[in-house]
Amino acid sequence: MHEDSSSGNAAAWAQLVLTILDEGRRTATYKLAVLLALIDCCALSADAEGRAPSRVPVQDLAVRVLELYWPQVRPYARHDGSPLLRQSSQPRAVTVDAVRALRNRAQAVGARSPAGAQRALPTAYEQTIGLIELTLVQMPLGKLQRPQGYAANGAADYPRFLYDDKPFHEGVTARQLRQRPMDVVLKPNVGDWLVSLGGLLRPVVELHWTRAVASFSNEELPEDHLRQFLFGSDRVNLRSLGPGLREAQAGQCFYCRRPLPAGDVEIDHFVPWSRMPNDALGNLVLADRRCNNDKRDHYADLTLLTRWASRPEGVFGQVADDAGWPLQLERSKRVARGLYAHLPSGTALWQEPGVYTVLDRARLLEVLPLLEAT
Ligand SMILES: [Zn+2]
Repeated sequence: MHEDSSSGNAAAWAQLVLTILDEGRRTATYKLAVLLALIDCCALSADAEGRAPSRVPVQDLAVRVLELYWPQVRPYARHDGSPLLRQSSQPRAVTVDAVRALRNRAQAVGARSPAGAQRALPTAYEQTIGLIELTLVQMPLGKLQRPQGYAANGAADYPRFLYDDKPFHEGVTARQLRQRPMDVVLKPNVGDWLVSLGGLLRPVVELHWTRAVASFSNEELPEDHLRQFLFGSDRVNLRSLGPGLREAQAGQCFYCRRPLPAGDVEIDHFVPWSRMPNDALGNLVLADRRCNNDKRDHYADLTLLTRWASRPEGVFGQVADDAGWPLQLERSKRVARGLYAHLPSGTALWQEPGVYTVLDRARLLEVLPLLEAT
């Protein structure tokens, strides 16, 4: 499907991405957010065969941008106080301020995630998404591909290697956008490259983002700790799902099916967090420490993928409801479909501690339909 798309072009294209990432005087993290959101939206919107879309609604990008900033706007706790991290060198940061306001309101009514906020405060949620959407259209979407030198001398002929950015500029009004929602129309192959190279690009984007936040915040911040804070999984909230998951898995490790010990169990992201951050219950399994420590960032093999895709859904809905945590089974399956479909033949897939299988794409094509919406 995608593995035969010309790899030479993909390498040249990846170079262009690295060029825009390597911006000397970054003034905000919004372009980085747009790039990560584009990668994620392409993985999320794969078609039945796992092919990435050719266009991405700006509204979908806004939803993902909200999700990216959501954990980042909480107070950054350190032993000597809790300074708020800054995402921009400017005093006002429309998107971040809006996300923080929504998060604070959501917290006051017991909602812990963007999905929870959407349920509990639908109007505020929609308004926030609308505001982010407009900001994306007016600012970073029009500037993302323009390297600094071009910005300085106002040249208009820089390479648009991701999407056509002419429709995006400060002249677009909220009213126009409401009447005619906009799409990001990707250049040929770009959606598939974003998904297949996402595993390489994501850590680079996160590193630039972490350093930018450290520099805007004027704090001596330990990079590893800050990066974990900005991009790590929400381990604290996930712990509350343990008892429900244990029951749903009949007390067995999801991977080896041995009885789970009383302590010593771990909540694992079935689709690895490093490939696509997804804390929804739909992406979580309970594993013993032996399996979890060995699987780490690997993709599970196709037998495990089949088992994961065939889990009885009703049980997990109850667990999610009880914990007040998003389930997002369909969405989690869509992500898996998009990512697995872009793995080349021969990819090592994790089967059990120390054992890998080699991806057989013919068999993968048989499994992919299990990941379709039901
Ligand atoms: Zn196990």
